[in-house]
This record gives sequence, C-alpha cells and structure tokens, in this order.
Amino acid sequence: MTITDVRSDTTVFDELQSWLEEHWDPDLTVGEWWERLGTAGWAAPMLPKDAYGRGLNRADSMRVAATIAKFGALGAPAGMGIGLVSPTIATHGTKEQIDLYVREAVTGKKGWCQLFSEPGAGSDLAGLSTKAVKHDDTWIINGQKVWTSGGNHADLGMLLARTDPEAPKHQGISWFAFDMLQPGVEIRPLREMTGNAMFCEVFFTDAQVSDDARIGELNNGWKVANTTLMHERSGMGAGGGGAAGYFGARAGTKPGHLDKRAGDFVQKPTRRRSAPKPAGGKPQSPAQQLIDLAKEFGKNSDPVVRQDLAKLHIYRELSRLTTERHKQTRASGGDIPGVANFGKLHMAHSIRLSRDLGMQILGPRGLLHSHEAEGREMLAHEPGGESANAVTAATLGAQALPIYGGTDQIQMNIIGERVLGLPKDPGDLANVPFKDLPRNG
Ligand SMILES: Cc1cc2nc3c(=O)[nH]c(=O)nc-3n(C[C@H](O)[C@H](O)[C@H](O)COP(=O)(O)OP(=O)(O)OC[C@H]3O[C@@H](n4cnc5c(N)ncnc54)[C@H](O)[C@@H]3O)c2cc1C
Repeated sequence: MTITDVRSDTTVFDELQSWLEEHWDPDLTVGEWWERLGTAGWAAPMLPKDAYGRGLNRADSMRVAATIAKFGALGAPAGMGIGLVSPTIATHGTKEQIDLYVREAVTGKKGWCQLFSEPGAGSDLAGLSTKAVKHDDTWIINGQKVWTSGGNHADLGMLLARTDPEAPKHQGISWFAFDMLQPGVEIRPLREMTGNAMFCEVFFTDAQVSDDARIGELNNGWKVANTTLMHERSGMGAGGGGAAGYFGARAGTKPGHLDKRAGDFVQKPTRRRSAPKPAGGKPQSPAQQLIDLAKEFGKNSDPVVRQDLAKLHIYRELSRLTTERHKQTRASGGDIPGVANFGKLHMAHSIRLSRDLGMQILGPRGLLHSHEAEGREMLAHEPGGESANAVTAATLGAQALPIYGGTDQIQMNIIGERVLGLPKDPGDLANVPFKDLPRNG
C-alpha cells in the first residue's frame, strides 16, 4: 500500500462538520473519543482509506485538524504514532500489522518512540550496531539507543536493529515494532538546555521482539526507515502539521490520559499580551510577532533589525510558496526531487534567524528565562510579556530542528548527491560487510 496524494473536494469538510456535530461529546473519555475519531479516518486523514485514513493530501489533512480545533473538539493524538509510524506501516506492513499497529496509533491507544540513533550512529544511521539474533520466532535484542524522544512515555518503539552483520551496512538492518514495556529495557531520561527531559538513552539487555513484529522484509529495514525519515522531514519542512485543538493529551498507556475527560483537554484560545490577534482574525506570522516586539522595545527603526525582519518574512513566504508549488506539481502527477530536504533546511534557516533576531530585539531581557511555571509567570509581567518568554524558550530550543531527522549538513549531502548528481564522499564503504567496517579502537 502507498500513501496517496489525492486532492479532496470541499464535501470532505462538510462531512467532517456533520460528523463532529453527531459524535463529539466532551464528557467522553480521551480514549473513547480517539477511538471514534481514529476509526472514522479523521485522526490521520493522510493515510489510505484501507489503513484508517481518507487519502487526503497534507494541506487538506492540516485543514481537517484546524476544522476539529475550530469546532472545539479534542484533536487527534499527536506524536510519532500518527506522523511517522502509521504511514510507515501503511506502506510496508501486512494487513494484520495495519489492523494492529496503525489502528492503535490512530486511536491513541499506544504511544510510540523512535529507536534509530545510537552513540556511534546518528548521521551515519546505517552504521548502527544494536544486534538482533533470532531464536525460533523471536529476536533477542542487545545494544543501546540515544536521543530517544519520549522514550519514557512510549509503549512501543520503531526499532532499527542489525539482523545480518555479514551484509553491507545498509543491507543487514530490519525495522521492528518493539515493546518498550518489558524486562531487558532500561530507559534513562536526559535533561537538555531547554529545561525539559524530552529524550532518553535506552539500553537493551536480552530484550525480545517477535518476528511477527518485523515490518517489511528481513534485512530490508533501511528502505522502511527511509519511509519513516521521509515523513519526518516533510513534516518538519512544512512546519509541523500535528494535530491542533488540544493541549496536554498524550497517546498511550503511560501518560495516563486515556481515562480522563476529553473536554478537559480542549484549549480555549488565549490572547498574548504583546501579540494581540489582529483584526480579521488571521493568525500572526512569526515575523509579525517580532515586529510587535521590536516596536515595544524601540528597535523598529534599527536598520539591521528591519532588514532581518524582511529577510525572515521572505524566508517564510519562500517556504509557503515552495510547499504550494510542490502540491500543485504532485496534483498533476509530477514531483520535485529533494523538496523535503530543501524544506527542512529552509525551516532550519528560518528558526536560526528568528532566534538571532529575537535576541537582538530583546537585548538584556533575552538573558532572563525560567524553566519553571512560576518564574515564567513572573517574567510575563516584565517588558515583552509572554512574547518575550516565547522568544527565550524558542532560542534555547532552536538548535534541535537543524539536528534531528538529519542535520543540515546531511540534508545538503542528500541534495548534492541525489538531486544535483554531485559525486559521493570519497572512501564510500557502502559495499563492505558491516562486520569488516573500520572502527575506533
Ligand atoms: C531534539 C532531538 C530529538 C531527537 N529525537 C530522536 C529520536 O526520537 N529518535 C532517534 O533515533 N534520534 C533522535 N534524534 C537524533 C538525531 O537524529 C541525531 O542527533 C542526528 O541524526 C545527528 O546524529 P549525531 O547527533 O550522532 O551527530 P553526528 O552524526 O555525530 O554529527 C556530528 C556533526 O558532524 C556532521 N556530519 C556528520 N556526518 C557528516 C557528513 N557525512 N558530511 C558532513 N557533515 C557530517 C553533522 O552534520 C554534525 O554537525 C534527536 C535529535 C534531537 C536534537
């Protein structure tokens, strides 16, 4: 099965509106509501119709999420289950695997994490060394992963493990739906400079996964992983695309939200002191929010700030127009090679520029930041209010996107080699058996 990119007509949104009127009930539990939303195809409408979706394109799927939020209902379970796992399993899984894993993901029953990166395998992901050795129908897993976002909240992990060390490094890997809640899995959260402990180290000691949970062919996990990564990059380049209209409700058994009242997770729109909603109700662009801050801090006549604000606006417009162009090209059966890589690079440039500009505008206020709610509340009464808090938080988090899902340098390598046809790095080891690859002492 493949993910389609069929353009929908407006009747889809009329149907959604009627469906919400009939089915939304704030007194349902989160789990009951997500069961309705997911099995009706509204949680992940980009998926094919026979894999719990509606075959909509990305733009229309985002409109579905916005429509649910505007209606005032709880949105789809956000996170990796919908964005990465479901399209991967819908593409490479069997019917039974779709009915198990995709169904559980779109209904939020299970939360997922991504067990790809290792201490010695990040950019060179195919160099991973977590071992899977088969005993009868079970694989025994030993090794370590790192940077596992949400690993401590996940029921399942997308595990890449080496199933054939005799094969060249890209050819001996398999992709598994791995049970995180078993003996032999140790999860250690890592605290980062944002103040959050978003990711973890995960250690496997004789952990197990059944061969039934292998997605795609044996030793063909590289192909499956590329589907996952393609969805990760295109999601980031398009500026996200996660579910709207909720806050804090998390998929899976560990966060403990499934039994809570759904209506309690629906967020009322809030107004920011320094970034009021403009007349006409259109959401403010990031450049507009910084323009408002520049006025408040008396930096709006600084020629360097003005020039960077214009540059930021242009970056964002270029991203929007590229996405639009890609959409049109795909609607007429074509494609623009490398657009997901290019989109992610572009987003990384925008984020860095927003960070630098925000700090330039805030000046010494930019040095004040709190990781605690109480401190943030106190700072919200200082010049710049919550917008300044948002700038300092974004500044601390700005280094993430240029790294995860493949660093900027790796995106440029891919564009260079696969789109522009430039020669590969010298000393290519792609055909050497994994066990014979040179390693650090
Ligand atoms: C916020 C965040 C969340 C993440 N979440 C997850 C997750 O949930 N699951 C998961 O599996 N991973 C996750 N990652 C890991 C991420 O995918 C890796 O950090 C990334 O692939 C880079 O790998 P590395 O950190 O090992 O850096 P390295 O690969 O060691 O790279 C170090 C530097 O060398 C450069 N470099 C490396 N190779 C080349 C080359 N061939 N040409 C040019 N430059 C090169 C890189 O660009 C980088 O600047 C996350 C990372 C971040 C920041």
